[in-house]
Amino acid sequence: MEEERKDVIEIRSDDQELGYDMPKPRYISDSDGSNKDIQNYQERPTKETYSYSSSMGSTKDRDNSHSNSSQSKDENEPDRNKTFSGKEEAPDATRAFFKDSVEDRTYHLNATGTMVDISKKRKKTRKIPMSVRKPVSQYLAFIKSPFKDRSPMLFFPYPSYVGDKKDEFDRVFYKPQEELEPLTMRFKISENTNIYNAMVNSCKAAGMYLVGEQQMLKKKRIAQGLTDSDTSDEEEDPDENNFNLLFSGSIKDDILKRLRSYQKINHFPKSFNLGRKDAMWRNYLTVAEKYPEDYNFCPKTYIFPEDEEEFEDDRRDPDYDPEMDLKLWIFKPSASSCGKGIKIVGRDDPIGKHKKGFVISEYIANPHLIEGRKYDLRVYVLVVSYDPLIIYLYDDGLARFATGKYTLDEDQFENKYVHLTNYSVQKNAEEYTQNKSKVANNLRASKWSLKTLQKVFEDHGKDYKSVKRRMKDLIIKMIIAVEPPIVEGINDSGIKPNQCYELYGFDIIIDSNLKPWILEVNISPSFSSSSPFDKTLKTMLVCDILSIVGLKPVNHEKYEKEERKKLHSDGLGHSSEEKKESFKNIEDISSGKLDEEDFNLIMEYEEQIRKVENFELIFPLKNNYKKYSKFFAEERYRNHLLWSHINSPLVDIESMYI
Ligand code: ADP
Repeated sequence: MEEERKDVIEIRSDDQELGYDMPKPRYISDSDGSNKDIQNYQERPTKETYSYSSSMGSTKDRDNSHSNSSQSKDENEPDRNKTFSGKEEAPDATRAFFKDSVEDRTYHLNATGTMVDISKKRKKTRKIPMSVRKPVSQYLAFIKSPFKDRSPMLFFPYPSYVGDKKDEFDRVFYKPQEELEPLTMRFKISENTNIYNAMVNSCKAAGMYLVGEQQMLKKKRIAQGLTDSDTSDEEEDPDENNFNLLFSGSIKDDILKRLRSYQKINHFPKSFNLGRKDAMWRNYLTVAEKYPEDYNFCPKTYIFPEDEEEFEDDRRDPDYDPEMDLKLWIFKPSASSCGKGIKIVGRDDPIGKHKKGFVISEYIANPHLIEGRKYDLRVYVLVVSYDPLIIYLYDDGLARFATGKYTLDEDQFENKYVHLTNYSVQKNAEEYTQNKSKVANNLRASKWSLKTLQKVFEDHGKDYKSVKRRMKDLIIKMIIAVEPPIVEGINDSGIKPNQCYELYGFDIIIDSNLKPWILEVNISPSFSSSSPFDKTLKTMLVCDILSIVGLKPVNHEKYEKEERKKLHSDGLGHSSEEKKESFKNIEDISSGKLDEEDFNLIMEYEEQIRKVENFELIFPLKNNYKKYSKFFAEERYRNHLLWSHINSPLVDIESMYI
C-alpha cells in the first residue's frame, strides 16, 4: 500500500488555501533593457509565438464574419469570433467545436435594457473565495488533433515553478477563459482522497476551475482541528456535479451512477484487485499456474489463514539447508501501508497470534546493493484503458534507499532501517538525507531519480537497459493478470471503458542477479512532495498524464438536456450505440467494416500516441501484442480491433492528416 499516504493534506504556511502554490514571478530582460515579469510564461501566450486569428467557419465565412464583427462590435466587448492559435489557422473541426462556446451563452435583458450574462451572475453569488477555485491562467491550452474533423483536447502546460517549459507541440493553442464560458473546464477532488498540491497546481495552471471544494475545505479544517466532522454549514456548490475530471480515492457505486459519459475519473472499478497485496497475489497466481515459466516475478505469497498449512509445510521442507540457501519470509498486513506491522521471519520464528488480514511472502534476501544499502524502485505506470488494454511507462521514477547497511544478521531482522525501504520509515532515521536539487542527482541522498540510478548502473558497467526491458515485461504481465476482474467491474458499472484511467506506483526490487521482482502495486501513489525533486517530478507527472488522457470541453447543461431526451425516447437510458455493441464479433474485424465506435477507438489511440510526453507506450505494440495475447483470460473485441489496426491499419491514417 502507499507508503506516504498519511501525508494527508499538504499545506505549508506560505501556501494559499488548499496548499496551492502561487506561481513565482519570473523576469526577463526586454530589448529596451527593462525587466519584464514573465510569470506564468507558459500559460500566457506571447505575441511572438501565437498569432491572433479568426476562428469560425470556412475561409470565406471567416472573412465575412471577421469584417462583420469588426463593423458591429462594441469595442469593450471581447471578440468571440477570435481565438489564439498556433502559427497556422485552426482547422475546421476546432472551429466547429468551439462554436458551441459562443452560441450557448444565456443572456437576460435587465431593467436598464442591458443584456446580462446569467452564467457570470451565478458565479458572483458563490461565497467560497475565488482564490481557491479560480484557475491561475486566463487562458486554457488546447491541443488540436493532427487529424481532420476531430475535436481538440485540453492540454496541461507545466506550472511555472517546474522551471522546465513543457515541449509544446505546434498544435497547442490558447483560448481566453471568457470565450469558453459554457464550456468552462472544471475538476473536482472528492472528499475520500488526499489533496495534493501537484494535482491542484497542474489543473489550475491549465485554466481549470475547482468545484466541490466545500468538502475539501472541511476536510482541511478537520485535519487542522478547527472543526469537527458534524459541522455542515457550507453553501451548496451549484457546479458540484459539473466537472470534466474527478480525482477520487476509490470508485464507489454512487460516484459511478452519477458520472456523465464525458467525465473522466482517476480510478477503474475493482482496481483493489491490483492494489491489495492478497488480491494481487490471487490474480497473479491464476495466470502463474497456467504459465509458471513466464509468471515468476512475484515472491511466493501465502494468504492467511487459507494458506497457513502450505506455508508451514514449505518452511519445514526437510530438504532445506540454511547453510546453502538462507530462506526468510516477510510478514505484512494485507491492507496496510508505510511498513506498518511488517517483520521478517525465519524458519523457526513464531508468526504471532494473527488470525487473518495478513500475508507472508518469500523474502528477497539477496537484493542488489549500492554502497551496501538496499533500495527499491517506484516505477510509474499509466493504464488509460483496460478494454482495449493500453499501458504507458513513465520515463522517470524513484529509487528509495534504506539508511542502514544491509546485513542478514539475525539480530538485525527487526531493524527497519536495514530491511525496509519505505520513505515513511527511513525519513525518521538520523542518516536520512534529503535530495535538495530538482534533479535528484545527489548520490548521498536517500531518494534518487531513476535517471540517476541508470547513470550509476552504467558507470559501473551494469546493463540497466536489460533491467528496464525485464521491468516492462513483468509490468505488462501483472496488468494482464488483473485485467479480468477490472474489465468485469467496468462492464458492470455501465461506464464507458475510456472514462477511467489509473496511475500505478509499482514497487520493484532488483536482486543481486539484476532480476526485477514486483513487491506490490499502489493504486493511489503518493503525489506529496517531500523535496524539490519530488515536487517537480510529481507535478510533471500529473500534467503529462492529463494531457494523454484527454479532456474534452462539454456544455454540461446542454448535455443534461440531451440525456433527459434520450431517457424519454428509450425508456432505459441506453443509447443505440451501447445496444449494438453486444453483438460485435471478433471475426467481423477482418471484414474491415468499422462502425462509429470502432473508428473513434482507433482515432483516439492514434491521437493519444501523438501527444505523449515522458511516457512510453509499452503495450500494445506491433512487436509485442502477439507475445502477450496468450496471457489474457478472455478474447475481447476491442483488444482484437486495436491489435488488428496496429498490425495493418484499419483506418488510412495518412489520408486523415490535416
Ligand atoms: P507497505 O505497503 O507497508 O509499504 P511493502 O510491501 O511495500 O509494504 O513492503 C515494505 C518494504 O519492505 C518494501 O519497500 C521493501 O523494502 C521491503 N519488502 C517487502 N517485501 C519484500 C520482499 N518480499 N523481499 C524483500 N523486501 C521486501
